[in-house]
Amino acid sequence: MKQAFEKKELKKKSEDLSAWYTDVILKATIADYSPVKGCMVIRPYGYALWESIQEALNRMMRSAGIENAYFPLFIPMSLLEKEKQHVEGFSPELAVVTVGGGEKLKDPLVVRPTSETIMYDMYAKWVHSWRDLPVLINQWNNVVRWEKRTYLFLRTTEFLWQEGHTAHETEKEAVEMVMKALDWYRQIYEDYFAVPVVMGRKSETEKFAGAKTTFTVEALMPDGKALQGGTSHNLGQNFSESFGISFQTREGTSSFVWQTSFGFSTRSLGGLFLTHGDDNGLVLPPKIASTQVVVVPILRGDEGREALLDYCGEIRDALVGQGVRTRLDDRDSQSIGRKFNEWEVKGVPVRLEVGKKEMDDRTVTMARRDTGEKVVVDRREMIPKIEKLLEDIQKSLYATALNFLESNTRDVDTFSDFEEVMKTTRGFIRAFWCEEASCEAAIKEKTKAATRCLPLSAKEEEGTCVHCGKPAIHRWLFGQSY
Ligand SMILES: [Zn+2]
Repeated sequence: MKQAFEKKELKKKSEDLSAWYTDVILKATIADYSPVKGCMVIRPYGYALWESIQEALNRMMRSAGIENAYFPLFIPMSLLEKEKQHVEGFSPELAVVTVGGGEKLKDPLVVRPTSETIMYDMYAKWVHSWRDLPVLINQWNNVVRWEKRTYLFLRTTEFLWQEGHTAHETEKEAVEMVMKALDWYRQIYEDYFAVPVVMGRKSETEKFAGAKTTFTVEALMPDGKALQGGTSHNLGQNFSESFGISFQTREGTSSFVWQTSFGFSTRSLGGLFLTHGDDNGLVLPPKIASTQVVVVPILRGDEGREALLDYCGEIRDALVGQGVRTRLDDRDSQSIGRKFNEWEVKGVPVRLEVGKKEMDDRTVTMARRDTGEKVVVDRREMIPKIEKLLEDIQKSLYATALNFLESNTRDVDTFSDFEEVMKTTRGFIRAFWCEEASCEAAIKEKTKAATRCLPLSAKEEEGTCVHCGKPAIHRWLFGQSY
């Protein structure tokens, strides 16, 4: 009876996405609220996902020669103020330490909202000649940007991320780095999360404070709201001029370095959870799932118990030996129904049910989480079949999400249609925009939709702004932000 009750208790995704989202994160033991307002606890099952991302991104960054390092959590306010636009952009969200060791600090310390300033103060010390370039450094850390309302993963005061910061001899090299990082983020979303994204450039209003240009990957969530997935910035020479990061060129002249920064945060996991999943819980894509296969022995009493557990153990070992992340759930403390329920809520892609019948027939029953479909396979064919199934689930989740993105991206040519879409289905709107900030602000004020980006694939066309009617040359992507 208890089981049935618990299952009913999970809020339904089909009825209330936002209530389901919070509920499923708590019940799947991904994260929990903490005693600190705005801050959450990431539990082991959730942190394992972050570790998978770290592994993948570290591999990509290493391929470009980027190394990990660590810089201080505190940034002297005076240092942050060196780049004017940067401090203006961040000041509303800053957490500032004014007292330390019982004494009022002369120069207050900011808890890092991002590390440009503290890192570039060091870069100025380290870079003197073209021989010192490029500087290719990343750090994995936590940052603090004050939030008034908490929404697990998507809006928290403290979050985890990587921030890459590179310095180059030429702008061309810097631009190449910016685009490379952007493509790594696309790969994490599309290849690992099975979440399709649109790559593009941010508008002047939406770009990173202090950047010359900002590029982004944008995803569309099931409620038609947009999620900024990760950003990569061409900083030009804005920071190197403010921080005095100059070098002697190959020609013997002096020049400021060309810089980039790029970041990918735990916020992304919110997009992963929202995109997949159903009324029964999360659905994790196999490539990112920390447990890809769970083996559940169907024990009925004590008879044949040992032989069945041996058979299950052998199945697990065979899968682990093939690199499939497999877990054997041999807990006696939980009923079978409860185990099924728990792994369903946690979104484990494949469940293997193994009872006396399977053992006697030398078979296993495979159940896929995304469709609920069950098939019995011969033990000898199990490994290739499971590997194929994991691939199929990954592809199928991506195809479903891509279909949603495509069918919810609309070309809109009149402002009344624009308003209508934002009032009803939402989604991405492709519309001509004059590229004036005041017009962008008015659109946002009236419809809640902001420019998400100018897609990299956007062609130059002749058009008129959907809002003010002035000439426009590009269809920008609009959407309501999370
Ligand atoms: Zn306009």
